Amino acid sequence: MTQAKFYHPEIERMGRKAILDLQNERLRWQVRRCLAKSEFYQEKFEKAGIKASHIRTVDDLVNVPVVTKQELRDEQVKHPPFGRYTVAPQKDWRELHPSTGTTGTPVNTIWSEKDVENITEVTARTMWSFGVRPGDIIQNGFSYGLWVAGMSTHYAGERLGCFVIPIGASMTGRQAEYMLNPGSTVLLCTPSFALHIAEYLREKGVSPKQLPLRLGCFGGEGGTETQATRRKIEEGLGIDAYDYYGLAEIAPTFASECTEKAGLHWAEDHYFVEIINPDTMQPCADGEMGVLVITHLTREAGPMIRYWTNDYARYETARCACGRTHARSVGGILGRADDMVIYRGAKFYPVQVEKVVRSYRELGDEFLIEMTREEESYADLCTVVCECLSGDAERADLEQRLRKDLREELRVTPEIRIEPFGTLERTTFKAKRILDKRSKS
Ligand SMILES: [Zn+2]
Repeated sequence: MTQAKFYHPEIERMGRKAILDLQNERLRWQVRRCLAKSEFYQEKFEKAGIKASHIRTVDDLVNVPVVTKQELRDEQVKHPPFGRYTVAPQKDWRELHPSTGTTGTPVNTIWSEKDVENITEVTARTMWSFGVRPGDIIQNGFSYGLWVAGMSTHYAGERLGCFVIPIGASMTGRQAEYMLNPGSTVLLCTPSFALHIAEYLREKGVSPKQLPLRLGCFGGEGGTETQATRRKIEEGLGIDAYDYYGLAEIAPTFASECTEKAGLHWAEDHYFVEIINPDTMQPCADGEMGVLVITHLTREAGPMIRYWTNDYARYETARCACGRTHARSVGGILGRADDMVIYRGAKFYPVQVEKVVRSYRELGDEFLIEMTREEESYADLCTVVCECLSGDAERADLEQRLRKDLREELRVTPEIRIEPFGTLERTTFKAKRILDKRSKS
């Protein structure tokens, strides 16, 4: 293999044992400094009866309590503005990036000078892995400013020797113009924005064949690993489309697909990835689905030890056909943030639908939130399906009242389908409240 295929060949093709040794060494360094400098971690470890000397390898992490986003939020409210886990001295701070949550106070994340450097290198590595090369014209349609994705991909594009157009997540018409002149070769943005640009080009009569664009990587929301969405983006823009993953609290890009499109490769030299069964809190076996828990191995400012992401994924160490040895999550991120539904700009949870549905005597207790995508417009359609206990006579009136109550609760109006009692599936385990039909190819 030559350097043309790998950005960091000595790291990307490291044996599994060498990766593990490096992780263990970096983890010991991280735990030592967190327990020496952070009251947040000192209290947490003391409560669990764990000392720095107890953490010798990554396997010992299973006993360490996880860190949740709510905990970080509470910590920053109690100890404003950054909590007591910043660790790195203020003279080393370079950037502030708050999380983009909709509830509660955003969690502030700091990057030190070394963190910016590591983030730039890992982002450059992921971009290289899906095919960005020196001389590419990168149209960066990720939002600039406080959101983590815009700045990091910009730095990485420059690092790779590319020509970067920092257009950000707006101006669909201008996006289309730049694709023709100077002729961007790489597009970075969210999957839904990519679909929107493709739709705009189609309306304007621009064929994908006229565009020099050859590839794109799409993140910030799920979708690219969904076959139907990937196909629509690829056909609509005439490119190869790749998925990548990041989180404000961890890093903008620390997992991305390679040209094999065989799952997200994790940057395991900087991040230790666990897949945890949320019921037992024990690690899942290779290939089993669980919650992603991430530990910063090299982060200086605001290091996370066992950050509970609330995102579901699988993890496989089998070597990828590309030759990289870093583990992958095949199928990408399989479920995000406690089943939050995002519909027409509003965000809501199944428990809110439950609250409304169960306030009706005429309705059964079962309900389902069905997400579908309209073929023509790619618009999402959310339908609340529930069951009627009485006959058909009052159904029209019932639908109308239900729609009004749901609109008040959810701040958005879903479609409603009322089925005869007994139609929906019953389970004694955890009920599946969201049926996402958009993920079917
Ligand atoms: Zn690969």
